[in-house]
Amino acid sequence: MTHLEHLTPRRIVAVFLVLALCVASAAASWALGRSTSDHVGAAPAGRVATADLTADLVSNVAYQQALVAAPSGKPKVTVIGTGGTIAGVANDRGSFTNYRAGQIPIADLVDDLRPEIEAVAEVETIQFGNKGSGGYTIAEFHALTLAVEKALATSDGVVVTSGTDTMEEFAYWLDLTVQSPKPVVMTGAMRPTAAGTVDGPGVIGADGPANLYNAITLAGSRVTTCFGAVLMLGDEFHAARDVTKTSSYRMDTFQTRELGVLGWIDGTNIKVGRAPARVATCDNPQRWNTPFDLSKIAATDLPRTEIIFGYQQAGGEGITGFADAGVKGIVTAGTGAGGISSAQSAARTAAVAKGVVFLSTTRTGSGSVYGGTTGSVIAGDDLLPQKARLLLMLSLAYAGGDVAKVRTWVSTIGNPEWDTVSSSAGTPPGQLKPAA
Ligand code: ASP
Repeated sequence: MTHLEHLTPRRIVAVFLVLALCVASAAASWALGRSTSDHVGAAPAGRVATADLTADLVSNVAYQQALVAAPSGKPKVTVIGTGGTIAGVANDRGSFTNYRAGQIPIADLVDDLRPEIEAVAEVETIQFGNKGSGGYTIAEFHALTLAVEKALATSDGVVVTSGTDTMEEFAYWLDLTVQSPKPVVMTGAMRPTAAGTVDGPGVIGADGPANLYNAITLAGSRVTTCFGAVLMLGDEFHAARDVTKTSSYRMDTFQTRELGVLGWIDGTNIKVGRAPARVATCDNPQRWNTPFDLSKIAATDLPRTEIIFGYQQAGGEGITGFADAGVKGIVTAGTGAGGISSAQSAARTAAVAKGVVFLSTTRTGSGSVYGGTTGSVIAGDDLLPQKARLLLMLSLAYAGGDVAKVRTWVSTIGNPEWDTVSSSAGTPPGQLKPAA
């Protein structure tokens, strides 16, 4: 079990009470102790957060103290632009699929939301880049994390815009590496924004402006404090770890298979239906933070990590080639519960002997891969291959060659799980399961 809705109704109530205490005490300590500019938990001016979770929080004494201590006024949100379709220019107003991505500056996209956005938040922009999402390198991901951290030092929340193709990778990367508990919201668009030129008329039915508006609203509301990064498109927000792009063109492309959305934004209402399990450690920043503090390593310290797909009679040369090229970690996106062909299996054994670490996942798009408690082949559980690859890369960079440490991080950071065993033995639920 990995998420709240897998618990019995009685446990759900208990989990939410514990979460309320966790988030509230963290909100209090961060708002009171870390920075006088923190507004943790407060709803932005003109917006009312009516979330299930925040309803519990608001009745909590520590949470109320945090609100009293927070400075009044609008939240400050920094929007960091990286390009994608939301910054795209189409040939004409009816061109939904024929356009150039990464053209419109992020400052212009935010300016188009004025004056309405001014009632929601004080917004500033940073142009990190302006290109398609697939054009970003891991070195640029490293720099993006540092840019987000820097913005969060003075802002109440950050929105990052990107292309949707690899947005889930942007989101999970930030989820794993940003050390601040403040909200980080990814957004973008499935239709380009302008027609003809960067300041041309709006494309018919363009979703970018509404997505950006709602992402700023969500970040400014602070309701996703301690959730890690979330991805917001089409009024719905998802956990970075779980969300995936499921369609090349549909507007509702982002789905969290099996678990569902975290919540949604209806006008002035922000509804939170569930929280990522990670929120249980909100009261303990040392536990909430991952070891992956990118201010401590250079981008060149991140080892090459690749993905191999499993299919009928797949050859082993892909694995052998990667291993020979110096790749340090390989994720297999296997069939069913992680199966790979016999040729791939032989190539994997040879690569392991050379020191390559493998993470086994499934190509099915959902469901778990279990097994293997020792050695250099680690089960990725229900991490999607493209997410598992980022976690493996970071784990290898920080583990100092200790494969057991990588294995532990895959099961704890990569697969946070509620401690339902001690719960059934009478201990209140709501704690993260300790490392095996
Ligand atoms: N090709 C675009 C990109 O990922 C698609 C998009 O922005 O949605 O940058």
